[in-house]
Amino acid sequence: MKYLDEYRNASAIQQYAQAIADITTQPWTIMEICGGQTHTILKFGLEQLLPTHLTIIHGPGCPVCVTAIETIEQALWLAAQPPVIFCSFGDMLRVPGYDRDLLTLKAQGGDVRTVYSPLDAVKIAQANPDREVVFFAVGFETTAPATALAVHLAQQQQLTNFSMLVAHVLVPPAMEQLLAAQNCQIQGFLAAGHVCTVMGYGEYETIASRYRVPIVVTGFEPLDIMQGIYHCVQQLEAGTAQVENQYARSVQPQGNLTAQSFMQQVFEVCDRSWRGLGTIPNSGLRLKPSYAQFDTAQRFALPTGKPPSDTLENVQENVNDNANSTCISGLILQGLRKPYQCSVFGTKCTPEHPLGAPMVSSEGACAAYYHYQSLTHSHPSTSS
Ligand code: SF4
Repeated sequence: MKYLDEYRNASAIQQYAQAIADITTQPWTIMEICGGQTHTILKFGLEQLLPTHLTIIHGPGCPVCVTAIETIEQALWLAAQPPVIFCSFGDMLRVPGYDRDLLTLKAQGGDVRTVYSPLDAVKIAQANPDREVVFFAVGFETTAPATALAVHLAQQQQLTNFSMLVAHVLVPPAMEQLLAAQNCQIQGFLAAGHVCTVMGYGEYETIASRYRVPIVVTGFEPLDIMQGIYHCVQQLEAGTAQVENQYARSVQPQGNLTAQSFMQQVFEVCDRSWRGLGTIPNSGLRLKPSYAQFDTAQRFALPTGKPPSDTLENVQENVNDNANSTCISGLILQGLRKPYQCSVFGTKCTPEHPLGAPMVSSEGACAAYYHYQSLTHSHPSTSS
């Protein structure tokens, strides 16, 4: 199969593993920013093919994981309003708020519907003119163009019963925040190929030069990842810090201009709170004032209250290490800990009974380690 079989070719992957070993002369730490890449690394056991002194850490590239708990609480509040049909991607349904999730609310009678596209939510609004239809717009630059298109269509159709809880986030400001942290361990980045397919990689050139860090735009198949790591190590060993594009079959330097144009028409940049990383300046998208009629904040009295101080999720928000905390997702999302270093990984916290967002999401690092743990040598049962 074109672009699948050849990118999963075991012999080619082994050759890259050997090439990486041949050029690696000292310890390096590389972060892959995207949850899809995390899953590929775990699913295909790629870490085990790398030199032991080459460390791969996992970043905050899972949209479900980084959605702030205050936003989840707003989603829960909206979904509990009787006139509302609340539409969400399925992954969001099990992300815990302070004491419940959207799935619980659905079981209690809330009209929560899973959609696969924001356009599905627009159709639901068309079909239910006597109900308020809300779409939970989460995700990175990858999903934002479809959200923008849905807003555009809703305006064209003059829908008055459709609005969005917008929680889109942008990757480059998060990378900068990680690099600027005092305890930063990142020496090189694999940038998310699908985000760059939309946005190009001009912003990454500024980051690479400002923080002296090589950034390799990388795809999602095993050979993509191994090539991305190889190019990153090459630069680290040579002392260079540039942007390279491993994913040229999908990514153009300028990205997808049509998608960007839709986004620019509908959204403006804003500060955004990330789960586990705190508030990052200029890291979110919100609707422009000219589209305010589709903003839930304009149509509902959304709750903005702070959590009780002793809740589990409040501990999760703590970006510092905390010996007393149970869930360490803040540290996981910053690449400062691996999932198996959480004391309840695979015991009290499993995909069936998740205690934190990284175990809920199909792109979460904890879920990836849980599902593919038999392929790793680093599961707690074998490493601690
Ligand atoms: S294993 Fe569960 S409790 Fe531990 S960090 Fe991951 S999501 Fe949180």
